[in-house]
Amino acid sequence: MSNSLSTPITIAARGQAHSVEGQAQARDGIVVNMTYLNGYRHGKGIVIVRNEKDPWKSYADVGGEQVWNDVLNAAMEYGLTPLSFTDSLFTSVGGTLVNAGVGAQVFKFGPQIANVHELHVITGKGDLVTCSKKKNSKLFYASLGGLGQFGIIARATIALGPASTKVKWLHLLYSDFSAFSKDQEYLISFNRKNDNAFDSVIGFLMINQWLNLLNFFPTQEIPRINSLIAQHGIIYVLELGKYYDNTTQDQIDQEVEHLTSGLKFVPTFKYVQDVSYQNFQNRLETVRSPAEPQSWLNLFVPGSKISYINEGVFKNILFKQNLTAHGVIVVYPMNHTKWNNKMSVAIPDEEIFYLVSVVQSASPNLLKAVDDQENQILDFCKISNIKIKQYLPRNKTYEEWIEHFGSKWQNFEDRKNEFDPKRILAPGQRIFN
Ligand SMILES: Cc1cc2nc3c(=O)[nH]c(=O)nc-3n(C[C@H](O)[C@H](O)[C@H](O)COP(=O)(O)OP(=O)(O)OC[C@H]3O[C@@H](n4cnc5c(N)ncnc54)[C@H](O)[C@@H]3O)c2cc1C
Repeated sequence: MSNSLSTPITIAARGQAHSVEGQAQARDGIVVNMTYLNGYRHGKGIVIVRNEKDPWKSYADVGGEQVWNDVLNAAMEYGLTPLSFTDSLFTSVGGTLVNAGVGAQVFKFGPQIANVHELHVITGKGDLVTCSKKKNSKLFYASLGGLGQFGIIARATIALGPASTKVKWLHLLYSDFSAFSKDQEYLISFNRKNDNAFDSVIGFLMINQWLNLLNFFPTQEIPRINSLIAQHGIIYVLELGKYYDNTTQDQIDQEVEHLTSGLKFVPTFKYVQDVSYQNFQNRLETVRSPAEPQSWLNLFVPGSKISYINEGVFKNILFKQNLTAHGVIVVYPMNHTKWNNKMSVAIPDEEIFYLVSVVQSASPNLLKAVDDQENQILDFCKISNIKIKQYLPRNKTYEEWIEHFGSKWQNFEDRKNEFDPKRILAPGQRIFN
């Protein structure tokens, strides 16, 4: 309808509205609250199809408005699971697929956008199109990581695999960044489905006085961990997960021992616990401060430059300024080969690149300081010629977007002209308006 008006009305899909820069807004336009769609699905919002012969060929057919946690719970009833998760499972399927959806399993299965078989997309021209790698592939690849510019994702078919029921959950503490990042890169090199390796690899920083992550450790260990942090200022936490179930539980301790032998963490600072699979995937919910407004900056950093980020950003900006007592800094590497270059999302050129995600409390009295600090981090990368790509980007000018997409820009713009020529969709991303 809007497309046929001489002055079209802009439209933004609103998933769970977690975006912090107004990406799900449409000034003077219409915001579609996707969660209402669930009411029209008559219980078919999430349909699980289990392939008995080969569970790896199972899938979930889900509405774009569905929340990942509900997809996980529905799949688990069939002994299945999505393959790749983000840190929060309370985001919508559509909301993460227009970005990428990265997390602790990305090294093995790629981002969430690499685990989609088919999409139903309503384009800016008002057409409802079914698309996949083989059918209407231009729209399929454009939509994945396409920041909502080409269409609203009404449904998605998501790959599933067999689920374990339990997880060995490990935290290894490092005082030396180089040892930490080398071990991370070593562990993500075992990234084939059947490799006997960890299933989940991610990392965090613990900075002087940032308390959130201490929830992960046994209470009696906290004084010892605090003194390690006080001694070094920043501690790097390697977090690992190894999935298992009743059939493999006899060997799991030995296996974990074997997989961690040779890693260069500070001796005796290794913590292992057992958790259920679902609690593991939801573990980060326990370290958030949901009552506080948060600001975040997410960067994809070329692997060859990650030590510069440690010196220039972690030590010289975040640690020295110590703005907030609440926050999480997530750092982990991933492999370029697990990403499909035809998708819209912009990533660095190198084979190994890192996600650096700085999430900080931004209560009203801190808001300006946090914002200034994030700009300092971006300036540092520019001055140091570190060719980062912003994830969940918040570029403001047309020129910044052209630089962001680099060699993908022309394609991106051509696809916009084809699928949303009147620039109706997702104006809150501030790309074409
Ligand atoms: C606590 C927390 C932790 C996070 N951790 C991670 C993480 O580990 N990894 C990661 O990759 N991301 C992470 N994110 C970011 C998150 O993936 C994005 O912010 C995502 O967009 C949130 O989904 P949403 O449903 O809230 O989207 P919204 O904020 O509602 O929308 C985001 C954008 O997507 C568009 N959109 C929404 N639904 C659709 C649809 N169906 N079709 C087309 N466009 C649509 C909107 O118009 C908007 O432009 C995290 C976010 C939070 C709040």
